[in-house]
Amino acid sequence: MRGRVPLLLPVLPQALAWAWAGLVTAQVAASPSWAGSQDRQGQLPAQVHPLARALQAYGFQIRLAPPPKRGAYGLFDSKSRTLWIAPVTIPLGIARQTFLHEAVHAIQSCPSGQLTPLGVSGPLNPVVEREISAILLRNYHHTNRLLEREAFLMQAQPDAVPRLQTLLKQRCRKSSR
Ligand SMILES: [Zn+2]
Repeated sequence: MRGRVPLLLPVLPQALAWAWAGLVTAQVAASPSWAGSQDRQGQLPAQVHPLARALQAYGFQIRLAPPPKRGAYGLFDSKSRTLWIAPVTIPLGIARQTFLHEAVHAIQSCPSGQLTPLGVSGPLNPVVEREISAILLRNYHHTNRLLEREAFLMQAQPDAVPRLQTLLKQRCRKSSR
């Protein structure tokens, strides 16, 4: 699993757009909040704050700012242990699932920095399964279907916050790196 990706991406906006479980296909890059946005345009939903604080306690950075990848709603960079959540996800109503999705990738990166599965499983809507296939085809850095499947699965769970807090404690080390 590579770290940060955006700089080498080809100039094919369509190919770079991430669609979240078929919910949204609009280009973030085209929206006003993409261009001039800084950190702290709004806030993550209160229900995910405990997990956000826990991730920070374990040395992860959370940036409510456009990810360094055009058109992405969220991104996790394992090298810098940084999660980006695009501010536009707040008005779009997808901030919670975007954050949970990237939180899964963050926890997958423990303990070594290499992403490995958490071991969570469950049924996914066939539409979501197809969306994952499309993402895997479009993004060369996403090589492991299981990793992506876990992120999509957990982003939709009502009890994702406590479950991910538990997994964080089990897998990650406060002093790591
Ligand atoms: Zn993902």
